Amino acid sequence: MAEKLNAVKGMNDILPPESARWEWLEATVREVMARFAYRNVRTPILEHTALFVRGIGEVTDIVEKEMYSFHDRSDKYGDNDHLTLRPENTAGLVRAVAEHNMLYDGGKRLWYIGPMFRREKPQRGRFRQFHQIGAEALGFAGPDVDAELILLAHALWKAIGLTDVRLELNSLGQPAERAQHRAQLIAHFERHADRLDEDAKRRLHSNPLRILDTKNPAMKEIVESAPRLMDFLGAESLAHFNGLKAILDANGIAYTINPRLVRGLDYYNLSVFEFVTDRLGSQGTVCAGGRYDDLIAQIGGKPAPAVGWAIGVERILELVKEQGTVIPAPVPDVYAVVPDAAAMPIALRALQQLREAGVRAQMHAATADGLGSFKSQFKKADASGANYALIFGTDELSRGEVMVKALRDGTGTQTARPLADVTAWAATLQSSALNN
Ligand code: ATP
Ligand code: MG
Repeated sequence: MAEKLNAVKGMNDILPPESARWEWLEATVREVMARFAYRNVRTPILEHTALFVRGIGEVTDIVEKEMYSFHDRSDKYGDNDHLTLRPENTAGLVRAVAEHNMLYDGGKRLWYIGPMFRREKPQRGRFRQFHQIGAEALGFAGPDVDAELILLAHALWKAIGLTDVRLELNSLGQPAERAQHRAQLIAHFERHADRLDEDAKRRLHSNPLRILDTKNPAMKEIVESAPRLMDFLGAESLAHFNGLKAILDANGIAYTINPRLVRGLDYYNLSVFEFVTDRLGSQGTVCAGGRYDDLIAQIGGKPAPAVGWAIGVERILELVKEQGTVIPAPVPDVYAVVPDAAAMPIALRALQQLREAGVRAQMHAATADGLGSFKSQFKKADASGANYALIFGTDELSRGEVMVKALRDGTGTQTARPLADVTAWAATLQSSALNN
């Protein structure tokens, strides 16, 4: 036998019954996005490496060490490209917005869902192929859309029944304010150079802000005593931040201000926020976002303000599971029992008519051993979770009928139904109101 091949490390198969949770989440997300008038976009999974280097920033974790990049072979179609599997979707979305001049007639509210790729150490809540749902509002400058995005996330938590997430907020100000703070921050860390870990030493002159984001407890003290970016903000930046807080307050949205919240990607300014939970161990951030007013220009587009967030789907689903939320099971309404293969053409025609009427119908299919006994077919009908077995027996068929047997109401009631008029009784089989 050939050697067995397995999935790539850190990349997961999503299979039934687990996939039902994904479908449920996706359907809910679609509904909530529509309620906020956000529209779906789908960008390619492969992009030019330069998009991420310029868009995310050269000295970020992602670009420094996490990207799946390769040099595409040059053939007569190719142009000898450096390509990367997208590690996130904001850069690609912004590229698409600029490339198609989508802001020509005003701001846009967009959302996406899909797989992202980062070469990280696989662990709980951290994978190499993972999924994000993101919402982005482009072309709007005020704190009102920042608030709208937070309200959108909130609506989503409500729709999926999440309770244990809290909102953390900060402002990164504008580049000039950050530059002033940066100088002070470097000076502070230099004064405590003996206490910096390897990561911090490496970042000291490239990206000192990121040191604040350290997960190393030994650095807690020097990080907490570091100069706060908030104290370097000018009037305009503060007004933006206060505007956001006022809307959140008016909506009863609780938050805490976390001056060390900086985000791992380089493109943020003004508002940054995270929704975090204590229920997922150290991988507790389930949604992260902020304003990125300079990104579009940075990748060569016409400058336009923008703000957005991304949700880690795996982490959200784990949280949903942790909370014991019951997801409706995707079971069929009916299972066809077909004792004799000669009845198959009629049975399949009836099932097709039922499906057209909206009934979820599972056919019984033959294995290498044939259709199996009546009894074994019934076992399968029961295991399928269907509420009814449809018995296409020879006697019933000779009368132009099928027997409908209730499997779950404890009565085992059998009702003969005419095959000539399937649509007339189809609705009696539907329980989709209960478990769709
Ligand atoms: P972290 O600090 O956990 O590495 P990050 O700053 O790299 O997060 P973002 O790039 O902001 O994360 O991504 C947004 C969200 O996507 C995260 O809050 C998280 O929920 C999820 N996420 C990021 N990386 C992974 C991963 N490797 N596996 C699973 N989920 C992830
Ligand atoms: Mg990361």
